[in-house]
Amino acid sequence: MEKTGTIKGGEFIVRDITAEEVFIPEEFDEEQQMIAQTCDDFLQAEVLPILDRIDAQEEGLMRSLLEKAGEFGLLGIPVPEQYDGFEQSFVTNQLASEKMGAGYSFAVAYSCHTGIGSMPILYYGNEEQKQKYLPKLAVGEWIGAYCLTEPGAGSDANSGTTKAVLSEDGKHYILNGQKMWITNGGFADVFTVFAKIDNDRVLSAFIVEKSFSGISFNPEEKKMGIKGSSTRQIFFNDCKVPVENMLGARGKGFRIALNILHMGRIKLGGNVIGAAKHAITQSVNYANERKQFGALISSFGSIKQKLAEQVIKTFALESAVYRASKNVDEEVEMNQQECSKEQAMVIAYGQFAVEAAILKVFGSETLDYVVDEAVQICGGMGYSSEMPVERGYRDSRINRIFEGTNEINRILVIDTLLKRGAKKEFDLFSEAENIVNKLDDYLDSDPATQDYYSRKKFFIGNFKKLALSLIHLVSEKFQRKLMFEQEILNSLADIIMNLYVAESLMLRVEKLESKNGIGNIGLFKDILDVFVFDAAALMRKSAQDVLYSTEAMDETDKFLKAIDYFTTKDGVNTRDARRRIADKLIEDNVYKF
Ligand SMILES: Cc1cc2nc3c(=O)[nH]c(=O)nc-3n(C[C@H](O)[C@H](O)[C@H](O)COP(=O)(O)OP(=O)(O)OC[C@H]3O[C@@H](n4cnc5c(N)ncnc54)[C@H](O)[C@@H]3O)c2cc1C
Repeated sequence: MEKTGTIKGGEFIVRDITAEEVFIPEEFDEEQQMIAQTCDDFLQAEVLPILDRIDAQEEGLMRSLLEKAGEFGLLGIPVPEQYDGFEQSFVTNQLASEKMGAGYSFAVAYSCHTGIGSMPILYYGNEEQKQKYLPKLAVGEWIGAYCLTEPGAGSDANSGTTKAVLSEDGKHYILNGQKMWITNGGFADVFTVFAKIDNDRVLSAFIVEKSFSGISFNPEEKKMGIKGSSTRQIFFNDCKVPVENMLGARGKGFRIALNILHMGRIKLGGNVIGAAKHAITQSVNYANERKQFGALISSFGSIKQKLAEQVIKTFALESAVYRASKNVDEEVEMNQQECSKEQAMVIAYGQFAVEAAILKVFGSETLDYVVDEAVQICGGMGYSSEMPVERGYRDSRINRIFEGTNEINRILVIDTLLKRGAKKEFDLFSEAENIVNKLDDYLDSDPATQDYYSRKKFFIGNFKKLALSLIHLVSEKFQRKLMFEQEILNSLADIIMNLYVAESLMLRVEKLESKNGIGNIGLFKDILDVFVFDAAALMRKSAQDVLYSTEAMDETDKFLKAIDYFTTKDGVNTRDARRRIADKLIEDNVYKF
């Protein structure tokens, strides 16, 4: 699997990279750390002290917070300088997303505005549109929202029925229809609205200002969580949109929507890291105060196990998020020689669509795990709305639903990989076939080394072989009907997701060890050991699900052996490793890994 050149999106399944090639969060430069600190300070000073008021949707409060964030320069991080922004790298944006992610409902309003609310105009607007809207959006004078979903068109977003018809004088599109679940809907000034022109089969996109005639809103939705985030239905009733407000070309709206979602998914991965670290700190703070049976509950093995597992999943997620985010930046740099920076960004998000879907699913499920255990660690108090973990638990749940549900994203992981393979963007199918043809040889091999990282690479390489051999099996068996076998796709996606995260984590730890003066390497190895140990067991189960559901008949024994072998790993004393990880957290009394 040794290849050269910039890695392509999804290619990780057939290609290994070195630790030197990954970006790790420990490499943030001073400017990035300063931006992160500004975000932290903003949350501490402006947001966290007034969470109840935010959740009560006090009139004008969320908007004024966004405006204040604009004054601090926090809304213009991705916007080019010529439109009054700071034009930072995607990694820096991701760091800001992470920091703001600890802001509960504010985090949602912020990500919506700086992501899906503003970026369609940056990436697809013409010069006039950019000049008109971006400077106002970059400083928070105007707030943005994104209107794709309709009552009858959720996951199947292109099935929307909102219609745009050219007026008789050819100066306006007349918009009619209804949008649903629109974040920032209650106070946004600018909406990217997706609609079909005449009887088009695909969507077009329009920039719609709140001040245009014919727009009305339902009251705020009453939600399980993120109660402070504005979520409205919006009605367009003969709404007159100037023709110059079409975004991109006619019929390009669905492509715009998809590409913006790729970006949103990677950013969601970043966002949930911040929320997870915040919840871990709350968990350990409580565990270090609460006494039962005459001892702090943080001294109990069951609590240490939970604290450690929260850390392991979050640290692993973080490794994968910044690896992929840097890949986006590298791809932008490469493509920028041939097109504008904005086009290069769009190409890069599309290129890393597999990773984006993985981070969305793994990130949202990590946060759900972390907040669930945070409630559990706090016991009865965790169930009380007096405790912040109760809010965190409710607020987390939306992440598995928006930016494409996790069901849709799991399918996307496989669908996108197979399409890339079919287009020969990399050697997916021939590598997969080779592995199946040589299964007997592989099953005889062993790591033949005691070197820590060589062994880990050997095992993770085997996880890749497992995924590839199963891709070969199911592609042969189901051919074009594979996409209807969603249960199998889900299991395959879980294998690929876990191996991507495991590899990212391993490369981070290896890179950390190679740097001088980095302490705690033993703890990072503990994190890696436990993650790989558990991931192998999960993969084994998922692989068996794939195999038995495929009814491979005479191939079953061969594949069972392969599954057994490819999911072999070194034994780990997970109890002691988790205790060491938890003990550091308990001592620091704050997430500091
Ligand atoms: C709080 C909140 C904020 C939101 N903000 C915005 C916003 O700002 N802008 C915007 O445009 N939208 C927004 N959304 C909408 C969100 O993106 C959609 O809710 C989401 O895409 C799912 O669509 P749906 O709710 O119609 O569910 P459905 O599509 O009806 O899905 C229902 C269930 O069926 C599953 N399912 C659907 N199709 C398939 C399939 N092909 N295969 C397997 N399973 C499938 C889903 O995974 C899900 O479990 C928001 C939603 C919420 C709740």
